[in-house]
Amino acid sequence: MPPRRREPAGRKPALPPGGLLDWSDDWHFDPEALPCRHCGAPTHLRDSRGIAADKVCAEAELAEIDRIVRVYSGDGPPC
Ligand SMILES: [Zn+2]
Repeated sequence: MPPRRREPAGRKPALPPGGLLDWSDDWHFDPEALPCRHCGAPTHLRDSRGIAADKVCAEAELAEIDRIVRVYSGDGPPC
């Protein structure tokens, strides 16, 4: 008997369609520079959880998460 293939769960991608996050709201900026949680460089930006993060670093992480999910769900190219 062949293995059952899981149906996609209808997962929403981590990144919006354009691949860029909208951090234009004021609360994404903090006057105090703290180390980015991804690269450690000082940043004034805060992610959606209020943690210091560069926008490009957050976008890169979310793009990688989407890529991994696509690979393991069979919807994307192999690793
Ligand atoms: Zn960073």
